Amino acid sequence: MADIALSARGGEIKSFPAGITVEAALKELVSGKERKRTLAVRVNGAMVDLSASLAADGDLEPITADMAEGLELLRHSAAHVMAHAVVVLFGNDVKVAIGPSTSDGFYYDFDLGESFTPDDFERIEARMQELVDGAAPFVRREVSSAEAIALFEARGQQYKVELLREIGAETVSLYTVGDFVDLCRGPHLPHAGWLKAVKLTRLAGAYWRGDEKNPMLQRIYGTAFFDVKDLKKYLLQLEEAKKRDHRKLGKDLELFTIQEQIGPGLILWQPKGALLRKLIEDYWKDEHYRHDYELLYTPHIAKIDLWKTSGHLDFYGENMFSSIDIEDVSYQLKPMNCPFHIGIYKTRKRSYREFPIRWCELGTVYRFEKTGALHGLMRVRGFTQDDAHIFCRPDQLEEEIYNILDLNLQVLQTFGFAEYDVYLSTRPEKYVGSDDHWDKATEALKLALEKKGLAYEVDPGEGVFYGPKIDIKIRDVLGRAWQCSTIQVDFNLPERFAIGYTGEDGREHQPIMIHRALMGSLERFFGVLIEHYAGAFPMWLAPVQVRIMNITDAQLDYVDEVYRKLRVAGVRVEKDNRNEKLNYKIREAQLAKIPYMVIVGDNEKASGQVTVRLRDGKNLAPMTVDEMVAQINAESAASMGPVAAA
Ligand SMILES: [Zn+2]
Ligand SMILES: [Zn+2]
Repeated sequence: MADIALSARGGEIKSFPAGITVEAALKELVSGKERKRTLAVRVNGAMVDLSASLAADGDLEPITADMAEGLELLRHSAAHVMAHAVVVLFGNDVKVAIGPSTSDGFYYDFDLGESFTPDDFERIEARMQELVDGAAPFVRREVSSAEAIALFEARGQQYKVELLREIGAETVSLYTVGDFVDLCRGPHLPHAGWLKAVKLTRLAGAYWRGDEKNPMLQRIYGTAFFDVKDLKKYLLQLEEAKKRDHRKLGKDLELFTIQEQIGPGLILWQPKGALLRKLIEDYWKDEHYRHDYELLYTPHIAKIDLWKTSGHLDFYGENMFSSIDIEDVSYQLKPMNCPFHIGIYKTRKRSYREFPIRWCELGTVYRFEKTGALHGLMRVRGFTQDDAHIFCRPDQLEEEIYNILDLNLQVLQTFGFAEYDVYLSTRPEKYVGSDDHWDKATEALKLALEKKGLAYEVDPGEGVFYGPKIDIKIRDVLGRAWQCSTIQVDFNLPERFAIGYTGEDGREHQPIMIHRALMGSLERFFGVLIEHYAGAFPMWLAPVQVRIMNITDAQLDYVDEVYRKLRVAGVRVEKDNRNEKLNYKIREAQLAKIPYMVIVGDNEKASGQVTVRLRDGKNLAPMTVDEMVAQINAESAASMGPVAAA
């Protein structure tokens, strides 16, 4: 048999008989230590199992347990092992669909007459453990498509048959682990013994292939790690995330509500949520004023022709709701604010002298999302963008991007977010505008990011068709990333709406337009804030800063007096003068996460002072109402993030 030349990670090239397995070749090419951590290899552009035999020359890249791809492989393999356990426990009535890995684990979709319950998880996990203990191997074989179809048909696995017919390949690969045969490209773990830290986490419904016309399947989610310690850490975080779930806290703290009668994905801001939103909006407007922006207000609908001109109907139509007929003219709910700002731009001739023009709006837009995709405040159908459009000359672009980044970081830091993932997305395959414009704009974005000292990753080809963009994800207290800010250069809309300005040369030019949102959507940002702070908002954002509680009815008049004084001083205050035990009132105020609990008894009334208990249980020395107001104001200012407080 002919020899083949192999190396590992570009190292020394050695000669092997063709047909040698990856595992055997690795013995000669990498250290024993590395081999122990190797799960599969990438060779000539494809990932293959350790048991695969090699027929051609190549350089092997070991996929090891410490690589992201290694973790993916572990989790994907766990899905197979879970499917084995489900089939063993629930018999051949179970129809299996698909089971990929996800960003934090894996799932498998099953079709079964009866419903799984979380109680089944333990039984399934126990069955999985048997394969793990026995280090059951993943065995690959290649068969003809016809053979595979016959095999799955005989087992009543119609979903696999459907997939096979669609793939239409001549040969396919099947993997067997335990009693479970699956159609899969692979690769997988060499054996199930690697699955030492696996946990099934939750159940959900999912349509076959995500289409609601198809049968609803049961999805079992799980996660897997190489190390039990990592699994424990993840489960703790999951527990913590559950406690912080904004949907639960939003209900408990009476911040917002979503009701079937009103419609899914539509947010009602309750008084406390609305007050918090006012604080966010006031701060946002003041900061924009300081940064030389002007405020706009625009309507929620516009004639359909506007959306034809803007291109939204053609390029964004599937995200828009159906049109509304008014006096035989079609109107459209707005999915974006941009065309309205252009309308204001067009009210008169513009000169280079007034550039840059910076217009901002808290603009409420409506976008279609499937019911299944909606999620609390995070995915909704109507939301308010903290939008702005900047019109400028090409030579002003870099400075404008820098100014936006400056304001952007200040806003995020004020809300307590100091860690970001920044992405620069460059020219995609299909685009409008000249190459020269694209290159200069991309360079301007890069320079602004570097001047601001922001580390970023380039997403090649991921820009929007109309221009390059910067996206910023914030990291919350649990380390989760949330997409918020976006800064997009646009060569397209100015062209479509034929807007211009008179340049220094007296000639007509086309301005550059920048779209940007800092928080993104107020609704979503509110959801992130709730989870980041677990509902215990910093003093400057707390919708209620103080709750006053009396001990007996003898202090009712004094409660009112303190309440009035605080209200007049601008402190956000409420009173609890119900005829309840003090401990009960304190407990309720603590659950409501109110920063200051003011308790007044006969002593306080006689001395004209107040006693303050903090939400963490600490007590402050008695003080006058004026002293307390000063302290709240100081704490409020200090609780804004590091930049604003400086
Ligand atoms: Zn697989
Ligand atoms: Zn826009």
